[in-house]
Amino acid sequence: MKKSTLGFVLLSSIALVVISTFALTATPSETSSQTIPSTEKNMSSSPTKKEFAVKKTDKEWKETLTDEQFSICRMSATEPAFKNKYWNEKREGVYQCVACKAQLFSSEHKFDSGTGWPSYFKPINTTIIGERVDSSYGMKRTEVHCTSCGSHLGHLFEDGPQPTGLRYCINSASLALIPKKNAEIVEAAKTSEKSK
Ligand SMILES: [Zn+2]
Repeated sequence: MKKSTLGFVLLSSIALVVISTFALTATPSETSSQTIPSTEKNMSSSPTKKEFAVKKTDKEWKETLTDEQFSICRMSATEPAFKNKYWNEKREGVYQCVACKAQLFSSEHKFDSGTGWPSYFKPINTTIIGERVDSSYGMKRTEVHCTSCGSHLGHLFEDGPQPTGLRYCINSASLALIPKKNAEIVEAAKTSEKSK
């Protein structure tokens, strides 16, 4: 009797060890399989992973962009409200993508949203702005980026003024304003070059 009880205890403890070993090995893989998809999701939401006409490595971008521009354009960071270049900008002109110089917004469509970021009710043309669902920070927002180089610009909200009712809330660091005066000079130079 005693021997068989001992045998049973031994067997059960072996079984326990086997089960707990399984549990131990299963838990980390379960944890990692839970974390991997969320990481992948973050990666796919990063503009740098898609194919764009203007393609550069992070190292190349760092050579042409400032640290702030790189973290916003390429890493989807957000600059502070009211402490950025264009939130209160009133000059007329065209806002280019700071990374690839594509024309994104016009001063004609800029409005004071009171948010502390430059805001536009529409882009220069719809094809230059790409949209993507952004689920970061527990919010569901529409991220907007430059379709030429993939640089992150800001977010799109549906509480803008008429006629579109849209609000493109953009980081100043993603933009470079070409004031109208300069744009006219550039155009004039182009025309005089052509006539030569
Ligand atoms: Zn761009």
